[in-house]
Amino acid sequence: MTDLASAYLIEKEPYYKEVDDEIALYEAAYAARLPMMVKGPTGCGKSRFIEYMAWRLKRPLISVACNEDMTASDLVGRFLLDKDGTKWQDGPLTLAARIGAICYLDEVVEARQDTTVVIHPLTDHRRTLPLDKKGELVHAHPDFQLVISYNPGYQSSMKDLKQSTKQRFGALDFNYPERDLEIEIVAHESGVSTDVAGKLVSIAERSRNLKGHGLDEGLSTRMLIYAGALIQKGIAPITACSVALVRPITDDPDMRDALDAAVTTFF
Ligand code: ADP
Repeated sequence: MTDLASAYLIEKEPYYKEVDDEIALYEAAYAARLPMMVKGPTGCGKSRFIEYMAWRLKRPLISVACNEDMTASDLVGRFLLDKDGTKWQDGPLTLAARIGAICYLDEVVEARQDTTVVIHPLTDHRRTLPLDKKGELVHAHPDFQLVISYNPGYQSSMKDLKQSTKQRFGALDFNYPERDLEIEIVAHESGVSTDVAGKLVSIAERSRNLKGHGLDEGLSTRMLIYAGALIQKGIAPITACSVALVRPITDDPDMRDALDAAVTTFF
């Protein structure tokens, strides 16, 4: 492995608790070099899972947080001006294809559709990436794999992946871990006791029932960990929940009242 590739290796085992049989499934998908899509609400463990799998498979991981201003050049690369003239700079996707990394495009639906299509030739038998501006066709390294994350909750018909993109991927469904596992994760990640973690998870369960009734999405595992971390730093639980759970998720006064009520039920 080149120095560049080893720079993207994950040295320490990421903490990851298996929820179902996703580890074996992903291993099989990687062995087949199947492009994969990890689907589920934000903050439920998708990115952590990919970090864990990259560590487990001993592959470099290149992650890209996608956004609507992202252009194809941000993924593929561009010519930059320097004192000697112009110099080509590989983008993260090109780099991953060259060094045989797992390339994780987080929230790919945020990117514009003309950006998304650049991944197509990498996801079928061609496994190539044309660098039009440079006049080069990159053949992906045999170990390269493309992974995208996708949150089905956010999608409107205006902003969705095209079928022609979706149908290039195998998919794993993710959701918040079941109660006991989520308590264990929140306790581990934030350092609070399982008793406190249990209360946080109970608040989250209430909020998840409000999804579609005024909340776009329930409280995520990530948010519970933030609340736990504040409690661990000595902040009173009710304040910690207000800062980490209630205020970020909604501005609607009625919804805030409903969530505050859930917090005071448990703390
Ligand atoms: P996503 O990529 O789905 O938005 P993340 O992977 O960033 O979410 O998950 C948020 C946090 O939740 C992680 O940083 C991790 O601390 C925790 N987490 C969620 N699920 C798990 C799991 N199964 N095992 C370990 N930690 C988890």
